[in-house]
Amino acid sequence: MKVFKFGGASVKDAEGVKNVVNILECYPNEKLIVVVSAMGKTTNALEKVVRATTSEEAEKLIKEIEAYHYQVAEGCIRTSLTKQNITYTLNKTFALLRKVVAEYPKEPFDERYDQVVSFGEHISVLIVCACLSDKQIPNMWMRAQNIIHTDSNYREGKVDFEKTLASYKKFMPEAFELVDILVMEGFVGSTATGKTTTLGREGSDYTAAIMAYCANAESVTIWKDVPGVLNADPKWFDNTIKIDHLSYQDAIELAYYGATVIHPKTIKPLQNKNIPLFVRSFLQPDAPGTRIDNDTSQLPVPCFIFKVQQVLISLSPKDFSFIVEENLSRIFDILAQYKVKTNVMQNSAINFSLCLDFDPDKVPALIEALRSDFRVLYNKDLELVTIRYYDQPTIDRVSIEKRVLLEHKSRYTVQIVMQNK
Ligand code: ASP
Ligand code: MG
Repeated sequence: MKVFKFGGASVKDAEGVKNVVNILECYPNEKLIVVVSAMGKTTNALEKVVRATTSEEAEKLIKEIEAYHYQVAEGCIRTSLTKQNITYTLNKTFALLRKVVAEYPKEPFDERYDQVVSFGEHISVLIVCACLSDKQIPNMWMRAQNIIHTDSNYREGKVDFEKTLASYKKFMPEAFELVDILVMEGFVGSTATGKTTTLGREGSDYTAAIMAYCANAESVTIWKDVPGVLNADPKWFDNTIKIDHLSYQDAIELAYYGATVIHPKTIKPLQNKNIPLFVRSFLQPDAPGTRIDNDTSQLPVPCFIFKVQQVLISLSPKDFSFIVEENLSRIFDILAQYKVKTNVMQNSAINFSLCLDFDPDKVPALIEALRSDFRVLYNKDLELVTIRYYDQPTIDRVSIEKRVLLEHKSRYTVQIVMQNK
């Protein structure tokens, strides 16, 4: 059995959905778990719905999302019966979305967020399944909430692997006796009381890994709009190189430092069972892409990860005490409380610096909270470059014309926080 994950870009329009179906057709007589993300930028659009302050604004946004999905469905389904069915299903689903938006309590915000935003993946599954059925390819929808169990940490659900494995065993083998293709929502799970949770932005990769873990799958393939894992994001760097092979360890490090090609949580469940992960292009489905496995050979080239909109916060205790255990634990408590992840940390005797993504929902409140015990200074609009397998010329190359505010080196990795001069 194989697990395939198709991200938002692969199903962003009718052509994309048809292409996904074509790829699936290349694997006849294989059992496939197909994990799909929300189409195109739907998750961002649904986030706007959650944040809408009036019902008129929410309705306007929902109408756009609705029109977009009808257009995709219209473009990828040929037979009138399937068209009729998907129209009926989408009508019902959008009515439900409207009901959730209107009636679900506004607070706690994160809980409401998950109930609304998860519709993106669900609608995507409905259309992909319809498109498969339209081509007479037997398939079945597996509702992610029935399989993936999490705690009630909304927007960042922590997966309960034991419970998830039990549900996997309860539902999936039976379903595979009926069809070869099971399609399920990425990114989505549910709490013990059945409320929908999500696994964190870009979490569909993680769903694929969880399913592979439960299924003891032979491999996972993440189908993307790039030829594989590149040594840098072509959005920021010229002359990028595709990496043919990557160790689990390097993949975890790169994802952890912010390489957007794979969700950081994806690797661990696969590594634990030694399941290889392929990153391949849905535009060139015959090309081999990148293979990630337990072979630990080092990368032949430096890898760059570039992040913008960084904030560098510098803390010093108000009472001039040193940065020791007590202060550190206070700082980490506050970070955990505000659910903020640090990208780089460094300390001296009386100073603690941390570099974070500037999330307007979290960082201003975090800074206020830190101010009760610390003197806080911060710089915004910074860049963070992480280089794995660095050397001095590569450091010089990235920091040209920049003012370096912090540099943090370990044996294989350097992180540089900088600002345009
Ligand atoms: N649709 C979700 C997101 O955009 C999850 C995913 O794409 O993996 O964050
Ligand atoms: Mg995505």
